[in-house]
Amino acid sequence: MKKLLLGCIADDFTGATDLANNLVRAGMRVVQTIGLPDQPLAADIDAVVVALKSRTLPVDQAIAQSLAALHWLQAQGAQQIYFKYCSTFDSTAQGNIGPVTEALMDALAPLPGSDFSIATPAFPDNQRTVFKGHLFVGEVLLHESGMQNHPLTPMTDANLVRVLQAQCRRKVGLIDYTVVAQGAAAVQARMATLREQGVGIAIVDAISNDDLLRLAPALKTMPLLTGGSGLAIGLPANFGITPSSTASALPPATGWQAVVSGSCSLATNRQVQAFIQAGHPAFALDALQIAEKEAAGMDVAAEVLAWAIPKLGQGPVLVYSSADPTVVKAVQAQLGVEKAGALVERTLAAIARALVQHGVRQLVVAGGETSGACVQALAIQHMKIGPQIDPGVPWCYAQTEAANPEGIHLTLKSGNFGTDDFFSKAFARLA
Ligand code: ADP
Repeated sequence: MKKLLLGCIADDFTGATDLANNLVRAGMRVVQTIGLPDQPLAADIDAVVVALKSRTLPVDQAIAQSLAALHWLQAQGAQQIYFKYCSTFDSTAQGNIGPVTEALMDALAPLPGSDFSIATPAFPDNQRTVFKGHLFVGEVLLHESGMQNHPLTPMTDANLVRVLQAQCRRKVGLIDYTVVAQGAAAVQARMATLREQGVGIAIVDAISNDDLLRLAPALKTMPLLTGGSGLAIGLPANFGITPSSTASALPPATGWQAVVSGSCSLATNRQVQAFIQAGHPAFALDALQIAEKEAAGMDVAAEVLAWAIPKLGQGPVLVYSSADPTVVKAVQAQLGVEKAGALVERTLAAIARALVQHGVRQLVVAGGETSGACVQALAIQHMKIGPQIDPGVPWCYAQTEAANPEGIHLTLKSGNFGTDDFFSKAFARLA
């Protein structure tokens, strides 16, 4: 394999896909790994995104996993490291954004320039902007965006210099909008000044894609970059790469088509209804029924498979547990939130696996947690990132023993992504 250009470490699964998608759109050939790979990658690619699940781990574990990912990426020859976190800067008072950033900087210390790094969650395409160090979500500041009530990572301060400083030993500074607007040379001059002032990490303002594109050339030789997925749009050009359709090329699609949906988000519920209205066969799963059938020793996945097999030859089928919030709440009250979620995830993952074993080779999965469960059930270790279907959601291609030797095309759609006709659009995109 040729040397990797960009080695990325993402702190969650769907965020990793989001970053990979932006890199592909800017022309890089990208593979996303599910967790830390246990061997070198064979493919000739430009960037790897290692998807960890480290966002809310205890700090020491998040650091250990991130360093292991760093060492693996360095062994692949990665020329620059990118630590990717959420565009709403999801972190606790302890971290993990600050501590992981510093651990990576420490580990990269022999390299020139590793005494300084930047942090920007700006993702203007997704309404995340940073101005005077403050993070906006749409029209409002981060701490008024709903993120102040997040169950795991409540964000109660929009001032990112302050938020990151509370997590860091190094001094945190700011490269503000007036500097970014002047372009890369001004950014570099500002970085030199900050260095003299003893600053180790700078929050960078960006309110538009143009800002991110102006910023990127100033980052060309920085060993470590940190940010949301937006920062990625300008980086491929630093390696002389321009957008091209070959970056997203996947092997031709084969086999039958299916959608497995465990997301109860508003957008997914609309997508499920639109797909049914378009005349496609659909099997609705009810969490309470699953629990009853399992208690009676019945195999729900086998039942769904028996329903699907005669239909697969005629076009895509849909299996869904997606339901209105009132229905889900009632189920959760009876089974418990975690138990209901785990039961449905396990069932849908078994169904996805059975469908692939019986010839489905184009699989749409709706739901972040549901996607994680399906990828695990299919024992997928890495995916080549292909063309975008809707913002943040690309088709991917993966090898799995259930689909030997041709592999499968799959797309993993988190909750509120995608237009109402997403499922039909996805299959059309692949054709
Ligand atoms: P999203 O990306 O929309 O948040 P996820 O898959 O991450 O979707 O989360 C949806 C959660 O809801 C999963 O744990 C899933 O198993 C659970 N779930 C799905 N359908 C039902 C249902 N009908 N009743 C109860 N829980 C459900």
